[in-house]
Amino acid sequence: MKITVLSGGVGGARFTRGLRELADAQITVIANTGDDMWLHGVRVCPDLDTLMYTLGGAVHEEQGWGRRDESRRVSDDLQAYGLGWEWFTLGDLDLATHLARTELLRDGLPLSQVTARLAERWQPGVTLLPMTDDEVETHVVVADGRTMHFEEWWVRHRAALPATRFVQTHVETARPAPGVLEAIAHADVVVIPPSNPVVSVGTILAVPGIRDALRATPAPVVGISPVIGGAPVRGMADACLAAIGVETTARAVAEHYGRRPDGILDAWLVDRRDSDAVPALEAAGFVARAVDTLMTDVPTTARIATDALALVGR
Ligand code: GDP
Ligand code: CA
Repeated sequence: MKITVLSGGVGGARFTRGLRELADAQITVIANTGDDMWLHGVRVCPDLDTLMYTLGGAVHEEQGWGRRDESRRVSDDLQAYGLGWEWFTLGDLDLATHLARTELLRDGLPLSQVTARLAERWQPGVTLLPMTDDEVETHVVVADGRTMHFEEWWVRHRAALPATRFVQTHVETARPAPGVLEAIAHADVVVIPPSNPVVSVGTILAVPGIRDALRATPAPVVGISPVIGGAPVRGMADACLAAIGVETTARAVAEHYGRRPDGILDAWLVDRRDSDAVPALEAAGFVARAVDTLMTDVPTTARIATDALALVGR
């Protein structure tokens, strides 16, 4: 079965690791690249790397991102020069990934080919695609009018500066990476994992052509709520939702995505704690169900993935 996933970093990667356990799953992951940046002259792709490390068995499990057994000697030494972002950690092993990526980009390869090349080492067991080969970055406009890179808002300010707007630089002219639209059009099922609806999935949907492909695909589209009991399970996704005027509830996130054909979803899996939302979602035309959706380990996550696919008869 061909399964296409639209993913951010930690939530999407953990979900995909469970999904991969399903027999007969041929998975393509379309990753958000809006968090990418140039830092110390190297291209950093946080969500692609989280996917690659998680699916490749190298992730720092408790942290959810970065390499396990990591050190930061280079990053610390760079700071002795007063360069870079002292609040943004670049581990030594992680830096090797960024150097390799940058070398291949400098050789003229597009990010999609670079990603495939890096994945040869990690064998993620899925086809990993960036949403676009073009440099699109999420910037945040905060209440005092300043604009900053998403990572500065998220990591340095812990999303505590009220955001008024998210801007995806150059997104109007960005094109989906090769294979992205085909993966949506020719899937047996498309899954929106429990990823940040605004700055992960929302950014992917902002690339011209991707939202239309989701509306048009003959495959059913099912999502899993990243909000449980009125709160994001980890991270500060509530601050992103607030900025775009969406309540932090499982139901409001589904309504934000919308039901096809105007929206992008057919079905929405919520947590048992949000079972109250199911009748309202059904009344609004979604196929909906409540189960336990905390991704505590791989077998549990595989069960969540099975429940999601069952919602749309897959
Ligand atoms: P990021 O790019 O690293 O922020 O990761 P994603 O965008 O892929 O996912 C982040 C979202 O995953 C968070 O907003 C959480 O709400 C959600 N999330 C994390 N762990 C879980 C979990 O165990 N269950 C559910 N339902 N959602 C989760
Ligand atoms: Ca991210």
